[in-house]
Amino acid sequence: MPYQQIITNIYKSIIQEDNAGEAATYIPQLATVNQDAFGVHMSTIGHQEFGIGDRYTKFSIQSISKVLSLCLAYKIWGSEIWKRVGVEPSGSPFNSLVQLESDKGIPRNPFINAGALVICDLLVSEFSNPKEYYLNFIREITNSNNINYNPGIAESEKEVGYRNIAICNFIKSFGNLKNSPDEVLDFYFTMCSLEMTCQELSKTFLFLADDNFRTSTNGRILNMSQAKRINALMQTCGFYDESGEFSFKVGLPGKSGVGGGIIAIFPDKYSIAVWSPKLNKKGNSYRGMRFLEMFTTQTESSIF
Ligand code: GLU
Repeated sequence: MPYQQIITNIYKSIIQEDNAGEAATYIPQLATVNQDAFGVHMSTIGHQEFGIGDRYTKFSIQSISKVLSLCLAYKIWGSEIWKRVGVEPSGSPFNSLVQLESDKGIPRNPFINAGALVICDLLVSEFSNPKEYYLNFIREITNSNNINYNPGIAESEKEVGYRNIAICNFIKSFGNLKNSPDEVLDFYFTMCSLEMTCQELSKTFLFLADDNFRTSTNGRILNMSQAKRINALMQTCGFYDESGEFSFKVGLPGKSGVGGGIIAIFPDKYSIAVWSPKLNKKGNSYRGMRFLEMFTTQTESSIF
């Protein structure tokens, strides 16, 4: 498959089009990013790499970090975690409080903010320094010490994070949070501030595509059944209330973040990261969605 040629052609055609999205301004620091940045990087399980554009520029991965915290929690507690968070698409915005009331504080899935906060609570209970442990976990998977949090972004979100503060306190009121909301939120905002390039992101997520992936010290990250379930959750819940649309148009498991990044996985083949900060109305990268739709169409392959 001439991946590089296909990536280059799609990229060139998309940059001719109007970049119709809007930056996420509710986290003030995210609005300072170059809104026309656009990068793509793909890593195959056969160790080939393809890409174009701003693929070596760091950006805030935001909610994409939630997949990695879920993997860490799943590795430690196994299926116990499903007692505290569900596996159903919410069909609601990522920062909604509405369902929590009727669901008695059990978030619908681990990728909406409520679910990610419960997963953060599990990690805060387990580790004396969850920020350090989580960062080292990712550095090991990515095989790079050059991955870091951005304290300015974390601080910027903390100052205006009223909704997440409300969600966290609401869950606490139902007894589904063991630690103090302050501690959990501090870890959550820091986790979301993680920065990566498209190249790093696609390499980090390769373990969900490659059954033979092993790290030098910890071996396998998840067993095959666990990796299957994480991919299934990305497929059904990875794009806020646009998850069905992403499945319909792209046909791969994936996860987006409000920093404009998207990661998509083709099990047994590759992982591909796209970054373009302007978001569509549902909060997903406008160009990222366009690119991946055209990519699976032109490569004539998806998991379906
Ligand atoms: N830190 C962001 C928030 O909680 C993450 C949202 C996202 O990327 O979906 O609002």
